Amino acid sequence: MPTAEFDLPAGHPVLPAAAPTAFPVSGEPEDEVLARVRARLGDNRYAADRNFAITYSGTPHPITGRVEALSQGTYFVEWADESEAGTLGLEREAVRMMGSLLGAPEAVGVITTGGTESNLTALRLMRNRAGRAAPEVIAPVTMHFSFRLGAELMGIKLVEIDVGEDFRPRIEDVRRAITPNTVGLVASAPAGSFGLLDPIEAFADLAVRSGLPLHVDAAFGGFILPFMRDLGYEVPPFDFGLPGVTTMMTDGHKLGLLPIATGFFLSREPDLFETIPTERTLIHTTSSTKPGSRAASAWATLRHLGRAGYQASTAHVLAVRDRIVEGVTAIPGMALIAPPLITVVAFTSGSVDLRDVHERMAAEGWGQGYGEVRGRPFIRLSIHPSRTLEAADGFVAAFERAAARAPRR
Ligand SMILES: *Cc1c(COP(=O)(O)O)cnc(C)c1O
Repeated sequence: MPTAEFDLPAGHPVLPAAAPTAFPVSGEPEDEVLARVRARLGDNRYAADRNFAITYSGTPHPITGRVEALSQGTYFVEWADESEAGTLGLEREAVRMMGSLLGAPEAVGVITTGGTESNLTALRLMRNRAGRAAPEVIAPVTMHFSFRLGAELMGIKLVEIDVGEDFRPRIEDVRRAITPNTVGLVASAPAGSFGLLDPIEAFADLAVRSGLPLHVDAAFGGFILPFMRDLGYEVPPFDFGLPGVTTMMTDGHKLGLLPIATGFFLSREPDLFETIPTERTLIHTTSSTKPGSRAASAWATLRHLGRAGYQASTAHVLAVRDRIVEGVTAIPGMALIAPPLITVVAFTSGSVDLRDVHERMAAEGWGQGYGEVRGRPFIRLSIHPSRTLEAADGFVAAFERAAARAPRR
């Protein structure tokens, strides 16, 4: 049975490899190859517009397709600041726009390939700043897996703080975990599993009092919480507006309507950012050459949509979420696993067999995540702004049909 990532037991699933495939001897005609690609993509389980299982299945803003055509053959990598001055200028300005959005117009940073690379960068800064022999980083167990990856790669001991029934860590537990080897704290705004915000303000206070850097993973939050606040939603402080927040990241390819792979990493302090040794390469990221279309698309989409455009996209995606939440919680036996904050929501049930519901819906082409957390089954959705209200209605209707036929538990 699938389990919430943070509850997975240690284990090593082995995925079957494809059968050995010969390298083609002579080329095949382009049209034939394209037809085969189309057919193979058709083997994917869910059509994009019915897929609520993963945010990436959303289509980016159409302007990014036009930018893609304009930026063919360009690239960005920091050592190319003379030859690729145009592309790098777009990257740097896009980063500054994101700093302004997140409360630190002076923040420096880079476009990354996404949240994983951004979080690796954050760990690298913490480790390098402290220069400890046995560095430790403290993070709630609900963190993204990239922190475990980074800890493994960089020889950091990750101290994982368990969460309560509400899936949030208690700040007292974080404080107690600090040792002389601690080099930084991590919190999520919000955590990806159920979209719930860690107590960022308490983390930031603790960071100030203990003199430790705090990294806020706002993979989802950075591109929705500021606009929710504009729209009048109650949003707790989560960004550089809190003095204790040292670094932040957000993913353009989740709610930012940008193409995969586009992430932003930001550091409030330029000096901290420069703890990455760049003497030979100038490169601050863990990847190097990136397609110029990503910097250009980010710049273009931020300029084209502006705050007003993102407010509209936020209002739309929250309307889609509310339509689904109202519809599914009206089904007998269905409840939310926690009150939703953003576009990640999860449902649970003590009476309806949710695995059966999931399988029936998947057979009809509806995509959603299914798993179990601390003994409770759940169905999880991550809703992209490109989803429609019609798709929300279709999803709810399919859920009703499936729940009516599913066995009782
Ligand atoms: C999605 C996500 C990430 C990073 O994902 P990428 O696939 O590398 O972009 C990091 N943190 C959280 C909380 C996420 O939801």
